[in-house]
Amino acid sequence: MNNKRINVTSPSLADYNEYIDEIKDLWDSKWLTNNGIKHQKLEKEISDFLKVDNSVLFNNGHLALETAIQSFGLTGEVITTPFTFVSTTNAIVRSGLKPVFCDINKKDYTIDVNLIESLITEKTSAIIPVHVYGNICDVQKIEELAAKYNLKVIYDSAHAFGVEINGRGISCFGDVSMFSFHSTKVFNTIEGGALAFNNSGLYEQFNSFKNFGICKDGSVKSIGTNGKMNEFQAAMGLCNLKRVANDIEKRRVLVNQYKDNLSSIGGITFVSEQEGVKHNYSYMPIVFEDSNKSRDKIANILEDNNIFARKYFYPLINNMECYTNFKDVDLPVATYIADRVLTLPLYSDLEIDDVNRICDIILSK
Ligand SMILES: *Cc1c(COP(=O)(O)O)cnc(C)c1O
Repeated sequence: MNNKRINVTSPSLADYNEYIDEIKDLWDSKWLTNNGIKHQKLEKEISDFLKVDNSVLFNNGHLALETAIQSFGLTGEVITTPFTFVSTTNAIVRSGLKPVFCDINKKDYTIDVNLIESLITEKTSAIIPVHVYGNICDVQKIEELAAKYNLKVIYDSAHAFGVEINGRGISCFGDVSMFSFHSTKVFNTIEGGALAFNNSGLYEQFNSFKNFGICKDGSVKSIGTNGKMNEFQAAMGLCNLKRVANDIEKRRVLVNQYKDNLSSIGGITFVSEQEGVKHNYSYMPIVFEDSNKSRDKIANILEDNNIFARKYFYPLINNMECYTNFKDVDLPVATYIADRVLTLPLYSDLEIDDVNRICDIILSK
């Protein structure tokens, strides 16, 4: 019996010799961080890849998000969703703001734009929606609401690297988008992240904020943080960026295989395709419509076979121990999905045979 361990994800890792070649000159230059040569090169290549005017690199996505929130000087309340990775909410709360949880829609699990308006108060300063699993939010509707109520929009695009709508990069929407380059993401720099945006006026603001608030002229105008990406991360990014288009294509084939294999069983929902969207196939979530018992049962059976799917995102943020003061917020759709979703293994080096084996186990139960 084939019992090889399969995790929910596995990093796409550049060829060893290619990476060693890329970092060799760092021993000569000794320029290891603070906007080094590789950092400058990667920043430009990321902007090109994302089809956006500007990007600012960070040592991780979370600090990129905190930088956007804090350097905008947001106050009061921020509307966001509970169906995300805890980083999104932590960034809001660690910035001294109150998260106001909006439910998600049942089609793509992003923020339910029809509910946002009812949550806006005079304290609201921003909306922080999440492009969950790389599914894009209703960016048009969010733009309209932001304009009407004069709100900032910061997208958590950690899942949406390379996603486009009608040929436009996803980070062309909102004031700014945060990407994560963590090892588990579609594109990685080991740890890393970026803010991407079209308004060039924000470039210096974000750039100085990630360097303790130190501006080009040496003055310190904001209470910044240390969010700088180092040259070893940037070197990994330069190598991995060459692979990412091919990785996404491999992911697409695997996702379609999963869907073909599993479509015959009733009661399982896949995320619907979005019109005009070039997807990045970052995750393979399935939702067991009948009950959370089937979800938990399948997760356990897979585990018995050394296959580690993940209940992602479960629990909802407002059910976590550190957020118990939000546990009574009524979020029926998010609760329903969190209780039933299982994210199956998906990464570019996963083999078709592995997908078939995983599906056979699910189908036989
Ligand atoms: C990964 C992730 C983050 C955090 O990014 P890091 O680079 O790990 O700091 C934030 N939000 C979401 C939705 C994520 O998946």
